[in-house]
Amino acid sequence: MKIGVYPGSFDPVTNGHLDIVERATKLFDQVIMTVIHNPRKRSLFTVDERVQMLSEATCSNPRIIVDSFSGLLMDYVNRKKALAVIRGLRAVSDFDYEMQMALMNNKLCPDVETIFIIASPQFIYLSSSNIKEVAMLGGCVKGLVPACVEKRLIEKANN
Ligand code: ADP
Repeated sequence: MKIGVYPGSFDPVTNGHLDIVERATKLFDQVIMTVIHNPRKRSLFTVDERVQMLSEATCSNPRIIVDSFSGLLMDYVNRKKALAVIRGLRAVSDFDYEMQMALMNNKLCPDVETIFIIASPQFIYLSSSNIKEVAMLGGCVKGLVPACVEKRLIEKANN
């Protein structure tokens, strides 16, 4: 079985992330969408909330598994016996950071490839950060995030 790991903060998951994972399931038998526990990064949603939203948003595709982890990504990838790490690329601005990470991961684990999937044009401008900013100021994010995320963002904005 060919397994890919799609790691991220997913704070929260957007339709851009979902587009990437759906496309990745055409290349792998199973794609594990996994939330990185990163205590150094301030987040709006807890890891449990992010996992819950991801599970709801991907429940119609049996090839997608949702999980979370802390520690080194390459240790996690080896534990899952995955062949590759999947990342999305939106713009040149993503590239520098992503290349550094891919090269470091390759150094740690030469057998695991990093595969980049280019964002679909309609999602290029979409990020979890700008979604949070718009939603917290009362703007409409319909069509940019799954319905379960939109609902939770509205709850957060009203609290
Ligand atoms: P991280 O904090 O690890 O960058 P994110 O949740 O922001 O986590 O993103 C996870 C991955 O998804 C990254 O590779 C990022 O470039 C990609 N990504 C984020 N938003 C989009 C989008 N709109 N379209 C395609 N890929 C995206």
